[in-house]
Amino acid sequence: MEGYSELKVIGEGSFGRAVLVRCKNTLQEYVVKEIQLPKNQSKSLSSRREAVLLSRMKHPHIVAFREAFEADHLLCIVMEYCRGGDLLRRIQQQKTTCFTLDDILRWFTQMCAGAMYIHDMRVLHRDLKSKNIFLTDNGTIKLGDFGSACVLNSPKAYAHTYVGTPYYVAPEIWENKPYNNKSDVWSLGCVLYELCTLRHPFQASSWKNLILKVCRGSYPPLPKHLPYELQHLLKQMFKTNPKDRPSLHTLLTCHRVSRLLRAHL
Ligand code: ADP
Ligand code: MG
Repeated sequence: MEGYSELKVIGEGSFGRAVLVRCKNTLQEYVVKEIQLPKNQSKSLSSRREAVLLSRMKHPHIVAFREAFEADHLLCIVMEYCRGGDLLRRIQQQKTTCFTLDDILRWFTQMCAGAMYIHDMRVLHRDLKSKNIFLTDNGTIKLGDFGSACVLNSPKAYAHTYVGTPYYVAPEIWENKPYNNKSDVWSLGCVLYELCTLRHPFQASSWKNLILKVCRGSYPPLPKHLPYELQHLLKQMFKTNPKDRPSLHTLLTCHRVSRLLRAHL
């Protein structure tokens, strides 16, 4: 990694590592996501898709791309460092103290704005979850990890084998139907619920029971101190038929909660 000095490893996954680095020229800090490139040509093309898709995204609520390069079978994606870390860690830090309504609405609105931009670019994120949503040091939301993203209507959109955490997966995916923009909306509903309660909406002791709960759309109601609008919003986002779920565009522009949300953007 010429041009950058390594500071520390901040994430490790099946893909490789996420490393905090400093640019030797500007002294700015960045994150480099190193992805092991498979020898197989077609598989390595799909690894490169993450870099290509991220490089196209320019939005205040999406992690900013700086550059990508390849060295020794590694694909390195250099991007903005989100000093606040990921939202899952932020949620875990709360222990039992709820977030303020103001934080919940601001963060949720920002992630919807980022995801709406992604959808407007005809891309689906497909792995929206609190671990893939980052915070800057001033508490601004940035969507990250485009490792599962795909271009809408490409054959890939239909052939998604899910490997990550199952809590955020929409019912249609368990029913082997194609992933669509409303499946991302479902996942954002799960994150909204997590912000409201510090718990997952759909939880069970086995995969089978989890999938049953998801496919029935049955989850514990929000605590009473939260405004009714949030309960209503979740009910819409957790419609089991994706056609009945609002798009992000509808949520942010003409839904009955959109005024409440946009006041927080
Ligand atoms: P994976 O494909 O393994 O999920 P991610 O892109 O989600 O890879 O990165 C793994 C972890 O590294 C994240 O969950 C987060 O904790 C950390 N991380 C990744 N990118 C950033 C970033 N730009 N700023 C801060 N932390 C990051
Ligand atoms: Mg991730």
